[in-house]
Amino acid sequence: MARTDALVLGAGIVGTAIALHLAKRGLAVALVDRRAPGEETSYGNAGIIEGNTVFPAAFPRGLAALARVALKRAPEANYHLAFLPKVAPWLLAFRAWSQPKRLIETARVMRPLFGRAVAEHEALMAEAGAAQLMRKTGWLKLYRRPETFAATAREREVAAQLGIPISVLDMDGARALEPSLNPVFRHALNWEGAASISNPQALTRAYAARFAALGGVAIEGDARSLHRTGSRWRVDTAEGPVEAPAAVLALGPWTPDLIGPLGIQLPMAVKRGYHRHFHARGNAGLARPVLDADKGYCLAPMEQGIRLTTGVEFADRDAPPTPVQFDRLMPAARGLFPLGEAIEASPWMGSRPCFADSRPVIGPAPGQPGLWLGFGHAHWGLTLAAITGRLIADLVTKTAPVVDPAPFAAERFR
Ligand SMILES: Cc1cc2nc3c(=O)[nH]c(=O)nc-3n(C[C@H](O)[C@H](O)[C@H](O)COP(=O)(O)OP(=O)(O)OC[C@H]3O[C@@H](n4cnc5c(N)ncnc54)[C@H](O)[C@@H]3O)c2cc1C
Repeated sequence: MARTDALVLGAGIVGTAIALHLAKRGLAVALVDRRAPGEETSYGNAGIIEGNTVFPAAFPRGLAALARVALKRAPEANYHLAFLPKVAPWLLAFRAWSQPKRLIETARVMRPLFGRAVAEHEALMAEAGAAQLMRKTGWLKLYRRPETFAATAREREVAAQLGIPISVLDMDGARALEPSLNPVFRHALNWEGAASISNPQALTRAYAARFAALGGVAIEGDARSLHRTGSRWRVDTAEGPVEAPAAVLALGPWTPDLIGPLGIQLPMAVKRGYHRHFHARGNAGLARPVLDADKGYCLAPMEQGIRLTTGVEFADRDAPPTPVQFDRLMPAARGLFPLGEAIEASPWMGSRPCFADSRPVIGPAPGQPGLWLGFGHAHWGLTLAAITGRLIADLVTKTAPVVDPAPFAAERFR
């Protein structure tokens, strides 16, 4: 490249959206990844643009719920015993952030991002020629037990205060929306403001193609070669070294591999998750993603089939997959929806990069001029990618930021 204004390291949905936003501002951008765009975590999510989010996923409430997880009976969560001591400080912080008062604080702090999530994607998708990938049909959450539904009361109240639309449905109302669901639940909520994507990898690829059309360059390279040379940042790529005055790290769960050696320690953990595609039996189908709240899995209609995504697994990012949650949840999933044969021989696994306060890090890297961070989007990396791209582009180009970046600063952990 003749001139490079910015390096973006990591071509998941977050890095690709950042690169696209920077290119839209007229910057010459190199997007560096060791793989093609969208092949890691951003490949395998449930495809939900959760602009509706009020409360983040929280630490289990009550001893019974905790005991089910501890005894490995909960379909929604799993853990590797040997990993627990390593993740214990993070879990304690996560538990503290799951207190009702702090959940409300998180809801308010995150609203400026979530509230813009769908519109920001819609705008990028329109210019990337990818509008057909989006469904604006909401996200249906099902409740088998009256207690589980009753536990959503506070969240619904806060949603109403924030002006977030939900329709409260009984079983018949939900089955009017999704006739293929079996009557194994009692209550449902349709979060009408959520949208969903029929192929998350195709979305990242579409943003990458739009980035290229604007003159952006995608290059294969190992981000771990990033180093400072004077006032610039340099990375080694398959096409030789590339350097620029600004570099953005958007390596999702791998970001700590880079910032650690630069002396930046941020308390990120990973929540691993799995998916598997299934054929639907007969004419069965879904028009929107469906969460089975009591069992902690999601069924999302994708171009590849019905994608069943699991809840969380606490384990080392690089430990071999242990998809035991499927054994615990498949009877419930088959009871809810007529799932046919599995499409792949084995499940896919990805790692959600998570901070205990359920906020991403978006902003400058402490003590490293010209280095920017955009990672840690947890359960909402797809959701927040487009607004993150805009915010980082505002910060890098010194434009008035679209939202106040202070709550997302890395310095909050000091
Ligand atoms: C089961 C599951 C379901 C989910 N469902 C949803 C959902 O419905 N909605 C939602 O919003 N979010 C969802 N998420 C979360 C979402 O998928 C992630 O937050 C998001 O994909 C993170 O994107 P990213 O771009 O930060 O990371 P990634 O997509 O992981 O991208 C990181 C990139 O960095 C590259 N990289 C890493 N190391 C190096 C290196 N050394 N050199 C070069 N390149 C490197 C990788 O190859 C990769 O391309 C889900 C996650 C899981 C696991």
